[in-house]
Amino acid sequence: RVKDEGRGGLRFFEARMDAQLQARRQLEQELTQAIDRDELRLFYQPIVNAGTGEIETFEALIRWLHPERGFVSPAEFIPLAEQTGLIARIGQWVIETACETAAAWPQPWRVSVNVSPSQFRQADTTAVVASALARNGLASDRLVVEITESVFIQDADRAVQVLNALRALGIRLALDDFGTGYSSLSYLQRFRFDKIKIDQSFVRDLESHSDTLTIVRAIVNLGHNLGLHVTVEGVETAGQLSRLRDLGCDQMQGYLFGRPAPAAKTSEFDQARLRSLFAEPALRARA
Ligand code: C2E
Ligand code: MG
Ligand code: MG
Ligand code: MG
Repeated sequence: RVKDEGRGGLRFFEARMDAQLQARRQLEQELTQAIDRDELRLFYQPIVNAGTGEIETFEALIRWLHPERGFVSPAEFIPLAEQTGLIARIGQWVIETACETAAAWPQPWRVSVNVSPSQFRQADTTAVVASALARNGLASDRLVVEITESVFIQDADRAVQVLNALRALGIRLALDDFGTGYSSLSYLQRFRFDKIKIDQSFVRDLESHSDTLTIVRAIVNLGHNLGLHVTVEGVETAGQLSRLRDLGCDQMQGYLFGRPAPAAKTSEFDQARLRSLFAEPALRARA
């Protein structure tokens, strides 16, 4: 009996694996066609000056508008795109589209795009970026490329080469999700980024863990001592804002300032509201 149940369990397990594999294959198949079917969208989230609340940059964040599922999060399909190699085409589409959109924006605004490690390895990222800038007439200093430290894991020397080639184009380079990896600090030594983005997990714990503020302050100081700009991600509340403000970080990003929105909405972000967030009497008194 026990044996039978064991076999039944195994069969059930195998059936479930089959179903999962099939669902994955289907998603993969659909993702292959997503670009041609015009199902990919870029949303843009404001990144504001941490002293004034002025919008300085928008981060481009991809969404997949699936015909049946609606908006699919990048957390769901970017890993699949990386495993299947589809990331090269998707990544190229992202860079192209973000540059095209940003070229129509008021001058001071920059656009920041995320580039995956495997995209870094597979495609000639530098050529893709250079041609997107040229084709859209976007000045290179208005583009920021965000990468995470995992780009260094497989072939660090090659990663540094690509980073240097991108730097030579005149674009800015940001180290994303800083502080979450295994050895973030050692990567600061390998390449001189323009900017680090402190991961949102730190901000989430700001009010519950008394040490978190100390850690964030230390990262901001470290960044500044290395001559880097420091952005803090994931700011959701006025309480977090007031705690962070005194640390002297350069930029902030988070739902408090605005959620990612379609390109057509970027001109609708209420700049007066953003400025007022940074002009609260309580904040001014401490400044
Ligand atoms: P990321 O680059 O660290 O992007 C920040 C993520 O935090 C975004 O999630 C954004 O919507 C979210 N976020 C921003 N402010 C807040 C906040 O105040 N609270 C909370 N809880 N979340 C906030 P999203 O858009 O789901 O993207 C997730 C990740 O997917 C990105 O993390 C990035 O690693 C990746 N990704 C997004 N777009 C692209 C892309 O075009 N190419 C590649 N390769 N990866 C992308
Ligand atoms: Mg990012
Ligand atoms: Mg991040
Ligand atoms: Mg992230």
